[in-house]
Amino acid sequence: MEILKGIAVSPGVVVGRVFVLDDPRRKVPRRTVPPEQVHAELARLDEALTASVKELTEMRQTTARELGDEAAKIFAFHIGMLSDPTLSRPMRERISAERVTAEYAAWMGFQDAAKRFGAMPDVFKTKIDDVRDLSLRVLRHLLGAQASRLATLNHRAIVIAKDLTPSQTAAFDRNHVIAFATDLGGKTSHTAIFARALGIPAVVGLGNITSLASDGIDIIIDGERGVAILSPDQATLAEYHGIIEQRRTYQLSLEELGELPSITRDGVQVHLLGNIEMPDEIPAILEAGGEGVGLYRTEFLYLTGNSEPTEEDHFRAYQRAIEMLRGKILTIRTVDLGADKYTQERTENPERNPALGLRSIRYCLQALPMFKTQLRAILRASAFGPIKVMFPLITSTNEFRQGKYLLNDVMEDLADEGIAFDRNVDVGMMVEVPSAAIMADVFAREAAFFSIGTNDLVQYTLAVDRINERVANLYNPCHPAVVKLIRDVVRAGRRRDIPVSCCGESAGELDFALLLIGLGLRTLSVTSSSIAPVKRLVRSVTAAQCGELARKACSLDSDLAISAYLRDQVRKILPEAFDGRSAEH
Ligand code: PEP
Ligand code: MG
Repeated sequence: MEILKGIAVSPGVVVGRVFVLDDPRRKVPRRTVPPEQVHAELARLDEALTASVKELTEMRQTTARELGDEAAKIFAFHIGMLSDPTLSRPMRERISAERVTAEYAAWMGFQDAAKRFGAMPDVFKTKIDDVRDLSLRVLRHLLGAQASRLATLNHRAIVIAKDLTPSQTAAFDRNHVIAFATDLGGKTSHTAIFARALGIPAVVGLGNITSLASDGIDIIIDGERGVAILSPDQATLAEYHGIIEQRRTYQLSLEELGELPSITRDGVQVHLLGNIEMPDEIPAILEAGGEGVGLYRTEFLYLTGNSEPTEEDHFRAYQRAIEMLRGKILTIRTVDLGADKYTQERTENPERNPALGLRSIRYCLQALPMFKTQLRAILRASAFGPIKVMFPLITSTNEFRQGKYLLNDVMEDLADEGIAFDRNVDVGMMVEVPSAAIMADVFAREAAFFSIGTNDLVQYTLAVDRINERVANLYNPCHPAVVKLIRDVVRAGRRRDIPVSCCGESAGELDFALLLIGLGLRTLSVTSSSIAPVKRLVRSVTAAQCGELARKACSLDSDLAISAYLRDQVRKILPEAFDGRSAEH
């Protein structure tokens, strides 16, 4: 049995069997197979080599036809290398002698070949790039088959990977993947956010789980405490089956809250809305008693499809969401691509510092046709039900004004074309960068509402990458600087009489929600599974009591002191929400 501690990012506790998803661009870990599987591994290697040669042959023919024989020579060289037994023989020998997987043997074989070229005179050193190229091609065949193997599994698979992109996570089929665990990652990465949206328990930042796990072994994922247990013993399995039962009872007790209003004991209403990445999440929000959608992360349209969404794709998604909401508000955030979402995976030259790069509204303002396509779809959808529009990552008044200007432009086009839309749609902004928070009183003159995005506000205020497990201990929304910014934004909103909500992940955490209510927030937008627990909290406190707690929290001078104080208070207010094994921060 091996117990690994990581970061809890998506709740739930499950028991299942490991399925390792390797990445051809990274070192393939050494994994052994049972003696009876050696033949199958040899066959997999042969198939991958043959398929690669076939692919290269086709490429050589196309290139020769289009660009001439000279240009096609490189493929002939690649085919020659792959067909050379001095490359494949050691791979085969390694599988037979060491009983390792085909991908590990191939990876090692290519590494050795690269080393041989590296030791030769300079003129041969360029061949190292060719070896890398070939290695990627062959490994893609070996590992690419993993995705289709994953879809045909007949056991409850728990995916183990070095890291997962939001698009990979989005592609998981809930019937086959019941949880995942990764070596890298942070709590507010979009991979983690998507795991919560899909209701898949997940633990990230486990360090080296990919080298310790092998296909088919038993594993427990504890998405509450951020623990993964490989090959658990009988006593641990029995303990966890008990925990799973206990959680089921707790979840059932939350279901009773759906119908009840979200009002504090002294009669103050705290509106609870849901965050979504796709319209299919709306029923869960309504069932939990959510009053609408406070954040629709529309960029997930790009992450889940194979091509750029058309105006109709956008429109259909929004119209569907509006229909499902039956008159409740839909807050559509315009696409927030970049950083860990989409653009970096697909670009030839990834940015050196993508969180500070061409992301979000900046990207939209440079990709005007794409942006206008989305704005048209949003406005067309506004004819079918109540919506609000929200721009992400606003850092300056110019950006907000440009966004509004473009929206007006699109309104004129639609009016000219005689297409119906709501001319009075509210246009607000995310406050998720310190510059916007500091200038909240200025923005409040122009924005119809604010939505505080703590995921990014924490990252940019504390200079802590939200997806980097190495600094996860420094990523804390309870930092006094973040609390002060939130307090100032709420005050600015109140002075100008515009609504302020919070839609960052921490709004769904009970200790932080307590603080937000105390700071004066009256709308929280959270992931659907957090609506009921937060409602229980709201119904258990008075607004005056929260205000008092917030004042005390604001007098403390460190994130750790504020976190500890709030945790203690929540434990006193709602002891039943804790079973003695709550997530560690
Ligand atoms: C945020 O930054 O808090 C937010 C809600 O936006 P996202 O997580 O999509 O960056
Ligand atoms: Mg954000």
